[in-house]
Amino acid sequence: MIEVICGDITTLEVDAIVNAANNSLLGGGGVDGAIHRAAGPQLLAFNRTLGGCKTGEAKLSPGFRLPARHVISTVGPVWHGGGQGERELLESCYVSSLELALANDVRTIAFPAISTGVYGYPRDQAAAIAVRVMRAYEDRFERIVACCFSEADAALYREVLHEHS
Ligand code: ADP
Repeated sequence: MIEVICGDITTLEVDAIVNAANNSLLGGGGVDGAIHRAAGPQLLAFNRTLGGCKTGEAKLSPGFRLPARHVISTVGPVWHGGGQGERELLESCYVSSLELALANDVRTIAFPAISTGVYGYPRDQAAAIAVRVMRAYEDRFERIVACCFSEADAALYREVLHEHS
């Protein structure tokens, strides 16, 4: 089942929340900063052992102080106009995160709108990619949550979900 909600991903009681991280995995702004603040300093210490993460790939960490058991960090592409493989890389973020989740017995997972903040990916195109991959995996999970940070984003996701139903 795919659910669209509007809220703060750090509060969700799911097996895993996905972080829209940067290549260092050592924290940043936006959802990344919020996740590091809520998880506590142990997340940073743990992530120092991971050796970073390539764009389009994903890495697993414990949730520490979060209600979520795991954090899956993935690194979205920076939008450069669409001609630099952004679509494939963003799709790969969702696929890599969901595959890593399956390998770790995650049954409930929540995603933010990867790359649509400071990385500048057009929100409608990003939502279409997210929903398409979520649809392909929904049978293998109990819940896949699209956690939007604004009502406008949530409305966009609901529209795209409806088109892909
Ligand atoms: P990126 O660098 O991948 O663009 P950002 O963190 O800048 O990542 O933005 C990704 C998305 O996460 C944006 O839609 C932003 O509004 C959203 N966001 C920011 N904080 C939170 C939060 N606490 N929970 C869920 N989504 C959030």
